[in-house]
This record gives sequence, structure tokens and C-alpha cells, in this order.
Amino acid sequence: MTQSTAPKKLLLHTCCGPCAMWPLERLLEEGIDVTLFFFNPNIHPAIEWQRRLENAVKVADHYGVPMIVKGCSMPQAWLRRAEDGDERCRYCYQTRLSCVADQALADGFDAISTTLFVSPYQNRDLILEEGGKAIAERDLAFSPYDWRDGYRRGQTMAKEIGLYRQKYCGCIISLKESSYWERISQEHEQLAIWGSLSSGGLAQQAVIYDAGKWEKQSDRFLLEDESVK
Ligand code: SF4
Repeated sequence: MTQSTAPKKLLLHTCCGPCAMWPLERLLEEGIDVTLFFFNPNIHPAIEWQRRLENAVKVADHYGVPMIVKGCSMPQAWLRRAEDGDERCRYCYQTRLSCVADQALADGFDAISTTLFVSPYQNRDLILEEGGKAIAERDLAFSPYDWRDGYRRGQTMAKEIGLYRQKYCGCIISLKESSYWERISQEHEQLAIWGSLSSGGLAQQAVIYDAGKWEKQSDRFLLEDESVK
């Protein structure tokens, strides 16, 4: 069931910090009880996953909303779908939205949605389809917000608070297809040199690294150290 009325308690899948800005402005203005949910195993490489996560944490802090973090960067599944075109994106939406639905049910939310709805570059029809499937036969609603008219405003707001704004969608395929590929690769190399992360087993180390960091930072952030099913 999709939901046109306002949810009471919304679990909002968050693809990155900048895309969360405008949806949060609107949802909080409407008085909705919203919790962010960062689950994006599509993001490659792990250092980029880490970077986007840190930006999402900044946004949660900026708006004073709780955030749940799950999983890590697991690009292999996306690499296997390199030739699948739109079906790779369907898989990507399905993977993330079904996980949001599981978490929402476990934690007593009545609705889910996603910040992907702010981006004019995402496939809205596929997101709607996969969101509908994620909540099928569950006592849960999928809120089909359309925040695309605030995309530019959200990006400007992200710039104003100094957020990193990525130049590719997230998976290894979108990275290779990006016209900024060389520049992005140089940035990733630079981040690695700075020692944000060590080289072996990046993703798991990133999770462990941040768990300690967040525990010290705030009790509003809950880290679930689980692999993608
Ligand atoms: S292009 Fe974006 S939506 Fe499509 S599979 Fe890659 S990360 Fe996911």
C-alpha cells in the first residue's frame, strides 16, 4: 500500500547527506517524526561509502534527527550486473528498500520512504514499483513523496553547510561511466593517502572504525554491524 496521508513515524532511507536536506526540511516542517536510515551497499569504493556516510551524519546532526546505519560497501553484486542497464537500478532499489522495510517493521515505524525521491536523475517509476513490493503484505506504508522541485535548493543548502556533493550515482558502473571519473579517482587516492581508511578489508574496518567514533559523538546514532543479506 502506498500512503498519501502523512505517516506518524517514518523511516527514511537516506542515500547521502545532500539528498536528505530538502526532504528533511519538508518533513520536519510538516511535523513528521522521522528517522534516517543509511543503507547503501551499492556505493563503491568503500572510501566513498565512508565519505557519504559522514555527510549523512552531518545532516542528521544539523537537523537533530536520529539515524540508523546498516551494512557497508559491497560492490561485487553491482559489478555482476554491469550489463543489466535499468535492471541493475531495479536491483539496487529493491535491495535497499526491502532492507528499510525490514528495519521499519522491526522498530515499529508505520511508513518508509527514500531520499532518492528528491533526485531528477533517479528512476522514479522503478523506485515506486520496488517500494510497493517492499511493503507488500506488510503492515507498513510506502510514502511516494515527490521532492524533485526542491532538488536544486537542497544542493545549495548542502553547499552552504559545507557538505561534499558527489558526482556519480554510487555503484562501480556509475563511477566508471562518470565524466568526472579521473577527478573522482584522484580524490579517492588522496583520501586513502590521508589515511582515512587502511587498505585491506576496507568496508568492515570502516564499520568498526565508525562504531567507536559515533558512540563517542552521540547516543543518537545506532550502528548495526551486519552484512548485507
Ligand atoms: S546507477 Fe545508481 S541506482 Fe543504478 S545501480 Fe548504480 S548506484 Fe544504483
